[in-house]
Amino acid sequence: MINFLDLQKINNQYQKELKEACGRVIDSGWYIMGNELEAFEREFAEYCGVKHVIGVANGLDALILVIRAWKELGKLKAGDEVIVPANTYIASVLAITENDLTPVFVEPNPTTYNLCPTNVRAAITEKTKAILPVHLYGLISPMLELMDIAKEHALLVLEDCAQAHGANIDGKKVGNWGDAAGFSFYPGKNLGALGDAGAITTNNDELAQTVKALRNYGSHKKYENLYQGINSRLDEIQAAMLRVKLGYLDQETARRREIANCYRSGITNPLIQLPEWNDDSNHVFHLFVIQTPKRDELQQYLGDNGIQTVIHYPIPPHKQPAYAQWNQQLLPVTEKIHQQVLSLPIDPTMTAQQVDKVITVINQYCS
Ligand SMILES: *Cc1c(COP(=O)(O)O)cnc(C)c1O
Repeated sequence: MINFLDLQKINNQYQKELKEACGRVIDSGWYIMGNELEAFEREFAEYCGVKHVIGVANGLDALILVIRAWKELGKLKAGDEVIVPANTYIASVLAITENDLTPVFVEPNPTTYNLCPTNVRAAITEKTKAILPVHLYGLISPMLELMDIAKEHALLVLEDCAQAHGANIDGKKVGNWGDAAGFSFYPGKNLGALGDAGAITTNNDELAQTVKALRNYGSHKKYENLYQGINSRLDEIQAAMLRVKLGYLDQETARRREIANCYRSGITNPLIQLPEWNDDSNHVFHLFVIQTPKRDELQQYLGDNGIQTVIHYPIPPHKQPAYAQWNQQLLPVTEKIHQQVLSLPIDPTMTAQQVDKVITVINQYCS
């Protein structure tokens, strides 16, 4: 069986260092908001090229807390509209609705799956206050164009970087384009902890101070509460795990890019639509997503041939029962994507033989 993602194998490579780091935390006697978190925040800030990193409990909280902070700072209020790609993972939308703002679903570019600047422009109203670009599947959004639009209309930009650690345009990485960004370090992400974890990046001092307070009960100073905050901290053990894994991120990304390029040149079956990207540095291949009209049939065939695949995602946010008020919205580009996409195994530990097997089996598929 070729696994979609073999986390055991990935983390096994670093077992010795991970266990040492874990031991260091156990021995320290200090488990929340200590040296490991501070060091990881510093190291990840350097990696992203940003001024501030604030560790939080998970990626959803990272997005929620940025919007919440902008509300506390008077930059956003309930009812404001936030433009978001309609085909995103539900977390991007939950961050908006959790704060009582209104998501405005915009159809993505059907070949890149990311926000389309033309559609963004068309969706702007006098209530629009922010854009939430999602660097979906690991491909950076068209940030030059989106930042121009944001500047023109005085909109805040919150990047959802959960799938795109390290993706960049001419060296400027995700998390360093917008006013702020949310990252996830869920175990299956490109930079994965051994549990839940997330972070906010920003170059804005005031925002950084506010989210730092909000993640810790709204407190800047022990037992003094400026805001009605929450408890969303990145604990020392996970920060220590992430420091080890960050050291291998670029190496793993390079392997993902190699596999993606093998798929791109090797898969020639006309029933399969391959993903499109220009420069390898734009993409970190969190997922390698193909499209085919009879997707479920292909998934069954691949499974029968020992290849595990996953659908990202079967139901778009506006079709979810949780968002019944938007179930009737017509978003045909998004709906077609959700019916046709299939994610192939792309795991940095895959062998050349495994990659070749995936290519051969797909090329032999006929509907
Ligand atoms: C994983 C993910 C999140 C949420 O991250 P968690 O750490 O699971 O809360 C947000 N947005 C996108 C696009 C994601 O893929």
